[in-house]
Amino acid sequence: MRRRRFTVLLGVLVVLGLVAAPGPAAGFGTIDSGGQSREHERLTRAALSCAGDVRAEPDCFQPATMDYLAGHGHEFGAIGAPDSDELSDPAAHCDDADYVAGAYPRTRMQATASLVDCLNRMRMRFGEGLDAAQRLLGPDGEVLAGEVGLDPECRPRDEREVRAKCTTLEGFGRALHGVQDFYAHSNWADQADPARPVGDENPPGLDLPAPSPLLDLRGAAAPDPPADLSTGCYVARDEVPGVGACQLRVTHAGLNKDRGQIDPVTGAATDPTTPRGMVGTNFAKAVSGAVTETRREWQDFRSELVARYGTDRGERMICALTRDDPVNDCGAANTVVAVVALVGLLVVALGAIVWLRRSIRRSERGRAGSAGGAGPDR
Ligand SMILES: [Zn+2]
Repeated sequence: MRRRRFTVLLGVLVVLGLVAAPGPAAGFGTIDSGGQSREHERLTRAALSCAGDVRAEPDCFQPATMDYLAGHGHEFGAIGAPDSDELSDPAAHCDDADYVAGAYPRTRMQATASLVDCLNRMRMRFGEGLDAAQRLLGPDGEVLAGEVGLDPECRPRDEREVRAKCTTLEGFGRALHGVQDFYAHSNWADQADPARPVGDENPPGLDLPAPSPLLDLRGAAAPDPPADLSTGCYVARDEVPGVGACQLRVTHAGLNKDRGQIDPVTGAATDPTTPRGMVGTNFAKAVSGAVTETRREWQDFRSELVARYGTDRGERMICALTRDDPVNDCGAANTVVAVVALVGLLVVALGAIVWLRRSIRRSERGRAGSAGGAGPDR
C-alpha cells in the first residue's frame, strides 16, 4: 500500500517534469534556392541550415535566421555584407597574399603579411560577434525579445541596426565570408593545371584538407603558412596575365574558384566556370573545404560563447542565435527545473502528511483494539 502510494507520487513527478521541460526544436523549414548561383549563400546553407545535410545537428540555423545569415533573394545577408561595403578591401576577401617561389615581384614575407591582414580582419569580425552576443540575454539569463526579433529583417551595414542577434550574426557572417573566400581565392585545397608550366599564371596547388590551422579565429597566434601558399592579386582590371599593380603576379582572375553551381542542401558543387576551378575537381574541393571550415568556425564560435559567458548563458545564446522564435524556444531552463522541483517537493510533503495522519490514526485504532482484547472473554 505504502509502495503503491510512492509509485503514484513518482508518476505525478515524472508527468510534471515532462510537461514543464522545454520542447524539442520546431519543424524544419524548406529553402528558397530561386535559381541563383550565389555561392556564399548556397554553401552556407549546405553547411549550417536545418534544411541542409546537418538537419540532425541541434545547433543548425532555422529558416528565417538562415535567410539573414546567408542572404536570400536580393538580400546580401551577413555573409554577403563584405561584398557591399568592403568590396575593394583585399583583407576582407584574403586577396593579395600572392607568392610563387623563384623570381617573383613579391617576397614570401609580403605575402604572409597580406594573409595576416586577412586573418586579423576575420578575427576582428568574429570578436565583434562574440561581444554583441552578450546583449542577447537579460540579467537573469532570460532571452530579451527586443534583441532577438527578426521582423523587420536585420540590416547589415546599417549603424542604426542595434539588435543583438543581428549584430552578432553580422560579425560571425563577415568572418565566415573571409574563411570561405580563403578556399576560393587560394591554392590551399586545389591543384595546378598539369598541362601548363608552373608560374604566376599557373601557381602550384597545395591540395590540403579543411579545416585549415591557419584559420584559427579564436586564437591570436600568427599564422605559419606553407612556403607555396598563394592567393591572387586583385585590381579592378582582373585579368591573366596581371596588369597594373598585379603585373607579373598571380591574379585573382587566374586562381579563383568563385563560380559554379552549389546544391544548398548537400553542398555538391558542379559546373565550374572559372579557369582554375575547371582544373580537375578544384571547384568541388574549394566548396567542400569552405563548407567544412564554415562548420568548424561555428563550432569554435559556440565554444567561445560558452567559454566567455559560462555554460548556461552560452547555451542559451546559441539557442537564441539559431532559432527563429527564441523567446518561446529558449526559455530559462533553470527556472523550469526549479518550478518542477518545487512542485515535486510540495507533492511529496503533502503525501507524507497524509500518510503520517493515516498511520497515526491506524496505530490509535490498533491501540484501542488491543486494549479491548486484553479484557476477559465474553
Ligand atoms: Zn569575397
